[in-house]
Amino acid sequence: MTPFDHPEFDDHEQVIFVRDAEVGLFGIIALHDTTLGPAAGGCRMQPYASHEEALRDVLRLSRGMTLKNAAAGLPLGGGKCVIVADPARADKARLLEAMGRHVQALGGRYWTAIDVGVSPRDADAIARSCDYVFCKASEYPDGFDPSNFTAWGGFVAVKAVLRRLFGDESPAGRRIAVQGLGGVGRELCRLLREAGADLVVADIDQAALRRVVEELGAEPVDPARIHAAPADVFAPCALGGVLNDRTIPELGARAVCGLANNQLEAPRHAQALQARGVLYAPDFIANAGGVIGASAPIWGGPDRAAAMRRIEGIGPTLDAIFARAEAEGLTTDEVAQRMAAERLAAARAARPAA
Ligand code: NAD
Repeated sequence: MTPFDHPEFDDHEQVIFVRDAEVGLFGIIALHDTTLGPAAGGCRMQPYASHEEALRDVLRLSRGMTLKNAAAGLPLGGGKCVIVADPARADKARLLEAMGRHVQALGGRYWTAIDVGVSPRDADAIARSCDYVFCKASEYPDGFDPSNFTAWGGFVAVKAVLRRLFGDESPAGRRIAVQGLGGVGRELCRLLREAGADLVVADIDQAALRRVVEELGAEPVDPARIHAAPADVFAPCALGGVLNDRTIPELGARAVCGLANNQLEAPRHAQALQARGVLYAPDFIANAGGVIGASAPIWGGPDRAAAMRRIEGIGPTLDAIFARAEAEGLTTDEVAQRMAAERLAAARAARPAA
């Protein structure tokens, strides 16, 4: 199957299959849309079962970055790259450098960064052969974890949700159920706890769970039931597809606002949430803090305080989405997608005629 015939093909501008036989690289770079600026989005390394699975992932992920970057008001388009390999491979750095050479050849049309299987330290490995990389560990010499940008955006988003539900954004005394206590989930828990929230938490990794329970006094629940825990807000911070036909009827919270990508198993699940009266903060709005904060070095130095302030814009964006969804009888997900599409259309209309 060619990319043009693929069900996930959405008028992507460029899909490039990259190979380095000497190193053993099989990769794909997808530039979905560069209307707003150079395509930007991370590099994912995964032992995909097939090249078809990798193609599907990169087509979906790159389109998602167009939406995320447009809705966040960033002067960036959407792109992503994938490497078909186990990230535990001993020669990982060689694969990353090989991918870096291919990204470099695009001359800045695409900026890459971290994703599943590729850490900020790995981004430095890519940078050995490529100028167009952000989210590098070397940009944060004090050890700051750029995932904290994402968690900060999640905290801002949860407050917007509380404001909408209760007319009061304070997390104090509110009960938040957090699924997944990795890089972003744990930091979100810390911010919420510091603001006085009561936490209900789950993780399949016992060590990750114990840490948050002991450090933050959170209440542990069965990972298979966290979505059903009675709470004000359910925050999925682990996997995609967690909002589906099985979980939505069992939801124990009045709202969903988390940091995981692709939380809706299918677009129709946004309608299912609305029908149940559950307020949904679209994932690509709530989790945009990472790209908002970490992409700053594309334009200048990584000014962390300025990045944190820019991330606070997620709050007013959600306020506007919730209000428009109500006024127009749409789901919040539909409104967020339209907002991104409108920004793209306006930028296209403003372009001088070719
Ligand atoms: P991570 O790998 O550090 O943490 C994920 C955690 O989820 C792990 O502790 C894992 O054990 C747990 N988990 C897995 N399956 C689970 C289940 N069934 N129930 C409960 N817990 C489970 O990843 P992360 O960087 O924290 O990212 C989490 C999510 O946020 C992902 O969907 C990621 O795509 C998304 N995201 C992350 C960032 C970022 O800056 N890291 C940015 C945007 C979106």
